[in-house]
Amino acid sequence: MTLAQFSSVIMDMDGVIWRGDTFLPGALEWFDWLRNHQVPFVLATNNSSKTPQDYVSKLTKMEVSGIEPWQIITSGTTTADTLKRRYAPGTPIHVLGGDGLRAVVTDAGFVVADDAMVVVVGLDPQLTYQKLKTATLLLRRGADYIASNVDRTLPTLEGLTPGAGSIVAALSAASDREPEIMGKPYPAMYETALSRLGTQARETLMIGDRLDTDIAGAYALGMQTVLVLSGVATRDDVNTSRLQPTVVFEDLAGLVQSLGHR
Ligand SMILES: [Mg+2]
Repeated sequence: MTLAQFSSVIMDMDGVIWRGDTFLPGALEWFDWLRNHQVPFVLATNNSSKTPQDYVSKLTKMEVSGIEPWQIITSGTTTADTLKRRYAPGTPIHVLGGDGLRAVVTDAGFVVADDAMVVVVGLDPQLTYQKLKTATLLLRRGADYIASNVDRTLPTLEGLTPGAGSIVAALSAASDREPEIMGKPYPAMYETALSRLGTQARETLMIGDRLDTDIAGAYALGMQTVLVLSGVATRDDVNTSRLQPTVVFEDLAGLVQSLGHR
């Protein structure tokens, strides 16, 4: 398969453009390609622990300038957009999550509170039994239940550590409830991205390193997909997967090379 024309791009960050604080091969060339061809793009991550401004600052420090906060979509900002559509400003929201998630909920005009009829869950590196208990009791009283994402693990230098999905699993077990999920592969984040880009799914390209999230969600909405093997998915994963991306490259350098003639 080869890629057809596309008029905008959504791309994941970890495992696609960088790992930790190091750009992966082709990342800078890819940003240049997008600029030279005036293709609008957004960066979309399931990680809710950092704010869009944090990512803009990190990119600027790494010498990629000109990225604006609207171009950064996290499962946290998607959660905030959903909250804004549903609840009046000032509504109390209970957050079981990190500082980034708390910040986007507050910035969206809500009041983070212990007692609330909406519970928002993300990765909380300071998780305690008491926090699980508080959220459980709210859910058992019928509070709305929204999860920023359900990635069970988080790749770190030490290995795979518990992700937001592991905390959601504990809370779901304790409350006998299932959350509405904002992150990839569920549609909310892609829909936010498409509305910011102003393009339709079929003319939009999704680039990711995970088949089960990045690629699965984009495929379901009818986007063209690029899987890069510079992150989580391996060639073996592709060979044994029923879900096939439109194209597969080792990294973004391969993508830039394939598009070079356009
Ligand atoms: Mg990734």
